[in-house]
Amino acid sequence: MPQARSTKKKVPDLLSKAAARRRIDVLRRVIEHHSYQYHALDAPEISDAEYDALLRELQQLEQQFPEYITSESPTQRVGAPPAEAFATVRHRQAMRSLANAFNDEELQAWAKRVQSALGTQQAAYVAELKIDGAAISLTYEQGRFVRGATRGDGVQGEDVTPNLRTIDSIPLRLKSTKVPGLLEIRGEVFLSTKAFEAINRERAAQDLPQFANPRNAASGSLRQLDPRVTASRPLDIFVYGTGAVEGMVFKTQEETLGWLRQEGVKVNTHTKVCRSLDEVAAYVAHWTEHREELPYETDGVVVKVNDFRQQAELGATSHSPRWAIAYKFPAEQAITRVKDIRVYVGRTGALTPVAELEPVRVSGVTVTSATLHNEDDVRRKDVRIGDTIVIQRAGEVIPDVVRVLLERRTGGERAWTMPSTCPACGTKVVRPEGEVVARCINASCPAQVLGGLIHFCSRGAMNIDRVGPKLLIQLLDRGLIKDASDLYRLKKEQLIELERMAERSAQNVLDSIEGSRRTTLDRLLYALGIRHVGGHIAELLAAHFRDVRAVMAASFEQIRDVEGIGPTIAESVALFFRQPQNAALVRNLLERGVRPAAPARAGPGPLTGKQVVITGSLSRFTRPQAEQLVRDRGGKIGGSISRKTDVLVVGEDPGSKLEKAKKLGVRTLTEAEFVKLLGL
Ligand code: NAD
Repeated sequence: MPQARSTKKKVPDLLSKAAARRRIDVLRRVIEHHSYQYHALDAPEISDAEYDALLRELQQLEQQFPEYITSESPTQRVGAPPAEAFATVRHRQAMRSLANAFNDEELQAWAKRVQSALGTQQAAYVAELKIDGAAISLTYEQGRFVRGATRGDGVQGEDVTPNLRTIDSIPLRLKSTKVPGLLEIRGEVFLSTKAFEAINRERAAQDLPQFANPRNAASGSLRQLDPRVTASRPLDIFVYGTGAVEGMVFKTQEETLGWLRQEGVKVNTHTKVCRSLDEVAAYVAHWTEHREELPYETDGVVVKVNDFRQQAELGATSHSPRWAIAYKFPAEQAITRVKDIRVYVGRTGALTPVAELEPVRVSGVTVTSATLHNEDDVRRKDVRIGDTIVIQRAGEVIPDVVRVLLERRTGGERAWTMPSTCPACGTKVVRPEGEVVARCINASCPAQVLGGLIHFCSRGAMNIDRVGPKLLIQLLDRGLIKDASDLYRLKKEQLIELERMAERSAQNVLDSIEGSRRTTLDRLLYALGIRHVGGHIAELLAAHFRDVRAVMAASFEQIRDVEGIGPTIAESVALFFRQPQNAALVRNLLERGVRPAAPARAGPGPLTGKQVVITGSLSRFTRPQAEQLVRDRGGKIGGSISRKTDVLVVGEDPGSKLEKAKKLGVRTLTEAEFVKLLGL
């Protein structure tokens, strides 16, 4: 009904539409970066609250301009694809995320949507604690545990079976003999708050980076290549549902959880069946107040419609089911005093003020510093050295400063200003007009060089795990390296000379560097630390140019023409390689034996270059899965049938597309024929 639509939605003027498009692009890039840091590297850089705010802004813009929604948008996707180091497991049923409610009104609005979709049927709910850990799927065949996987991107996860076998509370066999032939159990692997703190203390003693929160620690512990490391961490599990089930039928969430409990699988005892929304609200209110008393971290309450028939009626989006919602607890706050404000120089030269705090406990974790983001933030909040402040921790160790308690000022507080020179190298600090970040622009600033090298060696980049910050500092101090390419010239004799280094450890360092020579092009591009180039953008560049020399030689226009890359990134990449020292670095890396492999190119197949449209629901895949499979085989996905369409895949309950395809003589495939064509 085009008429109804045109009266409902005001046509936006061109400028605001263009501005929205730009903002959407920026938000997607920023969100993708943080999502990768969080889900793939277990190392978030911003608070969950900040992340959620960015995602919300994107959701709102996409709602306003639905023409910009693509299946690639972070609002439509879950988590991050599985890491290469693990075998991939395809979930039989997708593992989705959850939609959020941040206050009572949003919870009520969700319940209203549920009720209006269900009509006269009355919904009952199950309220569960939202455990802050890592989502996993456990597959049982004839009652035996055969496979366990992380959620990954929701469609495919990482095979972590040996690691999950080390968790005592996961039964290797279900208790009874009457069990489904195949059963996927869904749950959350977590660490108790105590165990998390103990792990971080130990890591601090070994000069290893700290985990930001128990969730990242649990995920990091689970995604270990060596199951002995996992076994050394006291991981635990709560299960909260099932995925695919064959040979048994459950009718409600309540029944499923009861059955799982009987079978010896650990279900949280605080789960509650609620007959009305008032009961749900009382549950939420109770746990908002008492969650501190729990020995593990929770970040909210998950409310689910109890009846599975109703759940099926409500359905799901590619991102989350409509029959459940996560009510997020408000971030936790505490009061403490600012002992000092220091400035840290990051690898991009950004100067970040950080408040050093008198140690204080917030949601079970002792906190000693809080980020102040930038100079303007300090001004706006008027934070002074000696001030008493309220800090807020939304799931991580580095919290935010919420406000200063002005009534506690004594007059002895000292105002802070951004230093005019870089604390690491003494170069004059610049802050371009209109930007909030002050920077040291000396490319050879030791703090930046060190930051760049730490990034180069990090897990998502060249993955040189034996070369950590302490070793890099020594190597730089002794002049053994100037840039990353020098790592590939290091000799054992040079390393043995260093502190805490023996024959064996020196060899380990060399082996770890050696192992990184055979890498992939996207890892190398990411490792170079080009501004705006995160893992995803590096993949796009690698897939397009296929050779690092080609990326170096590419013009701004050629880079901008790569699908998914906008002008800001293109400019940053082109500028990076125009700097002689950067071009020299890459040349030296290649000369010294770094061999970045281009991504495998799918050979021509039956779908190469073909436009495929899908209609109706498929039983073996979700829509995004099926679309991805087509794309992986070189095909393109079309939204509607036209003369350009080559193939229409017809699932159950096809729409009008089938008739149109028949009229136009488009080739149609049943799901079984499609599966065959895919070669599965
Ligand atoms: P989510 O963690 O908010 O919700 C979905 C998950 O909840 C499920 O996958 C499941 O693992 C878990 N869960 C726990 N108890 C459950 C229960 N009883 N029933 C059902 N599920 C239960 O969503 P997400 O998609 O995994 O991640 C988004 C979260 O990660 C947000 O909180 C976001 O702030 C955070 N995040 C932060 C950053 C950052 O940079 N700080 C980046 C990305 C994501």
